This record gives sequence, C-alpha cells and structure tokens, in this order.
Amino acid sequence: MLSGKLRSEELMTKYQVAVERLKSEGITPKLVVITVGEDPASMVYVGQKERRALEVGMAFDWIRLPETISQAELNECIECLNKDETVSGLIVQFPLPDHLDKLETVQKIAASKDVDGFHPENLGLITLNQSALFPCTPRGIIDLLEAHNIPIQGQDVVIIGRSHVVGMPLSILLINMGATVTVCSRSTKDRDKYTRDADIVIVATGVPGLLGANQIKEGAVVVDVGINRLETGKLVGDVLYDEVKEKASFITPVPGGVGPMTVAMLLEQTILCACLQHKLNPTDYLERE
Ligand code: NAD
Repeated sequence: MLSGKLRSEELMTKYQVAVERLKSEGITPKLVVITVGEDPASMVYVGQKERRALEVGMAFDWIRLPETISQAELNECIECLNKDETVSGLIVQFPLPDHLDKLETVQKIAASKDVDGFHPENLGLITLNQSALFPCTPRGIIDLLEAHNIPIQGQDVVIIGRSHVVGMPLSILLINMGATVTVCSRSTKDRDKYTRDADIVIVATGVPGLLGANQIKEGAVVVDVGINRLETGKLVGDVLYDEVKEKASFITPVPGGVGPMTVAMLLEQTILCACLQHKLNPTDYLERE
C-alpha cells in the first residue's frame, strides 16, 4: 500500500525540525488562507491545513471573507498580504462564489508566495522544469512514489483526468522526469487500451468506481486521487479499491492516500518560500532523504 498518511507523518517530523531551526534564526514561516463564503468542504479542508500547520510550529492565519465581497476588495486584501513581510505563503481556497474570477484572483497572489502553485508564472516555469513551487497534489503524488522507490523515468504512465489542479500539471512533472505519459479524459475513445498497458495509473476524475481490476495490468501501481462522498456517507476514491488492490503492486487508499500528501506539500512549500524570502538555501532546511 502507498500510505500517504504514514509518509506525511514522516514529513511532518522533518518540517517540525525545519521550522524550529528557522525560528531559532528569527524566522517564523507563516501560511495565510483566504476563504470567501462558507463552502462546507472548504471549511473542512482549511481546518485540516490549519491543524497541520500549527502542529509543525508555523504561524497560521485564516482570513474569512463574506460571500458578498467584490473582486476589487478581494484583490486589495491579497495585495496587502503580498506586501506583508511576515507572510511566507498565501492561498485562496476554491471554490469561489460565481461573481469572482478565479484566474484574476490567482494572478493577484505574488508568484513568490504562491504555495498552491496555481499562479500562471509558476505553472509556466514547471513546463521549463524551472519552478520551485508546484501544485501540491501532483508534487505529493511524486513524493509518495519516490518515497516507495517506485521508478518514474522510463515508465509508461496513464493519468485519467486533465484538470489544471491535478492531471495537467502532473503530466508535465512526470514528462520532465522521463516518464512516457498519456492523459485521458471524457473524450478519450478507448481508455482501457491505455490503462491496461500502463506501469502506473493515476486517476483524478471525481467519478467513484471509474477504474476496476480488469482495466489494469498485473503489478501496476495505482494512485487514486478522487475524493467522493457516497450517499451512505462513506468516503471513496475513483478506484474500486478492494478488487484493484489484489492485482496492483501498490495502491493508494482513500482516505489516507493522496489527501494527506497534498497538505504536507503545502507546508513544505511554505517553508521553502520562507527560506527563499530570507535568501536562505531551502535544501539546508528541507533536505530530501
Ligand atoms: P475536475 O472536475 O476539475 O476534473 C476532472 C477531470 O476528470 C476532467 O479532466 C474530466 O475530463 C475527467 N473525467 C471526468 N469524468 C471522466 C470519465 N468518466 N472518464 C474519463 N475522464 C473523466 O476535478 P479535479 O479538481 O481534478 O479533482 C478530481 C478528483 O480528485 C475529485 O474527486 C477531487 O475531489 C479530487 N481531488 C483530490 C485531491 C487530494 O488532495 N486528494 C486534490 C484535488 C482533487
């Protein structure tokens, strides 16, 4: 099993040490999250980010803006946090109410504080293999594979789902690492043709039960990004876990797979931004095993 829960616990210990060291040098990494309105899932996600940030000793601010806020007011709030030297990383939690523009909002965030990795400048830089800041879910998936010594270079990888949050940036990161990547979406003619041959299958669609055992080859690595709440209240991924686990060599569970890795990478990137903003070498604080 590829346990994101266990791997993220290891990372938390490392981040705690990094934050302690930075604090002893007078630098407290600080993550600020802006929410607009009261989307129930966002409240849960931000609560998890807050708990984890505080656990590793970071400062954390949750700015709750009303649903009725205008784009100009939101932009002003972001600009103020961009200028605030105590803020290392800044994210605006999505979804936003319909009257607010997602792209304009992301572009307002200083690229150097964009710990979600969604700023067009950072997304552009990842295509050139130059960025320090990546979208957190793709970065977390790669960390999880590497932590389990699963090779990426030279492997055939199929990603199902091409969103700008997961599938699209993940495909670029994997291509940069030397994988041969196929990205499938709703419009793919014969998806099984690709998944049945793949060494690694990554599913990020939000469709429960999309991938079953007869759609993968024996020994494939399966990463399930989906988070779906069934009517029964049960949380499931996009993969039929019980049958696929019998055939896969590694599989991520839901919950406890990719989710905790996403939060971990958000914290890692906040520490990284704090280092870069103080002209420190992040690898001195966050060296990889
Ligand atoms: P999205 O709706 O933006 O994108 C979904 C993608 O899946 C689209 O490209 C779409 O074409 C594709 N798709 C949908 N149905 C399909 C089908 N039947 N066959 C093939 N492709 C299909 O979603 P997203 O933001 O990328 O999120 C995907 C899932 O991952 C959701 O369940 C979300 O909750 C979850 N998610 C989890 C994490 C995490 O940290 N674990 C992070 C982000 C998203």
